[in-house]
Amino acid sequence: MKNNKVTLLGAGLIGSLMSIYLRRQGLDVKVYDKRPDKRKTPFTEGGRSINMALSTRGWKSLEECGLKDKVLPLAIPMYGRRIHDEHGGTTFAPYGKEDQAIYSISRGGFNQLLAEEAERLGAEFCFDHKAKDTDFRTQEITFETPEGDKVIQSDVIIGADGAYSSLRMSMQKQIRFNYKQEYISHGYKELTIPPTEDGEFAMDPNALHIWPRGKFMLIALPNPDKSFTGTLFLPFEGTKVCFDKIQDAGDLTSVFKAYFEDAYQLMPDLTEEFFRNPTSALINVECYPWVNGQSLLIGDASHAMVPFYGQGMNCGFEDCSILNGLIEKYGTSSWDMVFEKFQKIRKDDTAAICQMAMDNFVEMRDTVADPKFMLRKKIEAKLHELYPKDWVPLYTMVTFTDIPYAEAYAQGKLQESIMDKVMSNPLITENWNKMDYEEIINQLDSAKAV
Ligand SMILES: Cc1cc2nc3c(=O)[nH]c(=O)nc-3n(C[C@H](O)[C@H](O)[C@H](O)COP(=O)(O)OP(=O)(O)OC[C@H]3O[C@@H](n4cnc5c(N)ncnc54)[C@H](O)[C@@H]3O)c2cc1C
Repeated sequence: MKNNKVTLLGAGLIGSLMSIYLRRQGLDVKVYDKRPDKRKTPFTEGGRSINMALSTRGWKSLEECGLKDKVLPLAIPMYGRRIHDEHGGTTFAPYGKEDQAIYSISRGGFNQLLAEEAERLGAEFCFDHKAKDTDFRTQEITFETPEGDKVIQSDVIIGADGAYSSLRMSMQKQIRFNYKQEYISHGYKELTIPPTEDGEFAMDPNALHIWPRGKFMLIALPNPDKSFTGTLFLPFEGTKVCFDKIQDAGDLTSVFKAYFEDAYQLMPDLTEEFFRNPTSALINVECYPWVNGQSLLIGDASHAMVPFYGQGMNCGFEDCSILNGLIEKYGTSSWDMVFEKFQKIRKDDTAAICQMAMDNFVEMRDTVADPKFMLRKKIEAKLHELYPKDWVPLYTMVTFTDIPYAEAYAQGKLQESIMDKVMSNPLITENWNKMDYEEIINQLDSAKAV
């Protein structure tokens, strides 16, 4: 029986979903989190995003756990980006086909739903337990608790304790552990666009709003209470517009009036919120191996990415689904073998999405506003419409399918090189609708054959 007892570190989104999967397999699950119980004290976001985009990979895992219908009422579909220019004009760019959407969901409520579902299925949660260190020889975890340090032993440990994972730090002390982290130059701050006086959404609720301004940007996602959560991404320092140079209400107003005038008109509490809310950093973490004996890292603990593809949570949910499939297939008599297979399957895919998330930052804050970029998207959409199996835009592969990320990335690179050639035609703007689309598909086929 001892191999059926699993200790999970972290009751965040990934730890909570993993505990649901494990309980559904009939395993004994105990989840430890450093935070106080979110269900007894109000959930504080602690520097994490307030809402986030849920897409196909995430939904697939929720469906496997029978949770789709419970989650849907909490989620607002966003069918595309609404791009705001500097003069208050907007353009809508669909994410995919008409019915394809990503869904805005509040982190706190969603996390609570998952933790409660896990508990209902019999998972045991221990809050106020901060993992300090894990000894892989004895599989003992030392926790800091309000009552003092506590040591527990567990044959199977899964670390879903986020980007600053304690389990990963213990692995780092072992030999031949590869680890790489990078803080990007930008940070973020969350701000609110409240409902109008009539209690309505102040902007189109079924879009992800984006104010791309070259080196920086503002985005906003809708909430069920008819507010939007805006996220301002700026460099910390060193540029004309950066967090360091916004020291008082005057600095703030001039930045917002110059670059985000239409949003500014909708943000009555901007100054108060800006100086009250934290400015958070953005980190990319990659490491390997994720396994030490019968201990494993999943979610952000093994691959924390910047948020520009909206995939961190979706990717972590996919981790849970894949791990669950392996446990189903191989059973629980040899966890190290299951964990070994998991990391082999997953490593290239998570490296690919970490890279794509970095690349997408430039697209979101800059190229998305370029008419040539819009045209490129239109041509790709047309190719996809005419040849739905042969040409699938990269965003569609990542967001609306479960094609392994590494495969999507490789296919995306081939398509990108062909599109670069297509777009280099000086008459493309006039002639895009009369092009020989079949010829483009032939070029893709030849590129794939190489
Ligand atoms: C600004 C921003 C926007 C984002 N938007 C999106 C999006 O739109 N779509 C998307 O898919 N992803 C998005 N993400 C990524 C997403 O937030 C993460 O990928 C996701 O939260 C990872 O979940 P996790 O459970 O692995 O880690 P976390 O959410 O960090 O949870 C870790 C849990 O472990 C606990 N913990 C930490 N250390 C310890 C310890 N030592 N002992 C015990 N417990 C511990 C924490 O209290 C926490 O409950 C965004 C991220 C950011 C920063």
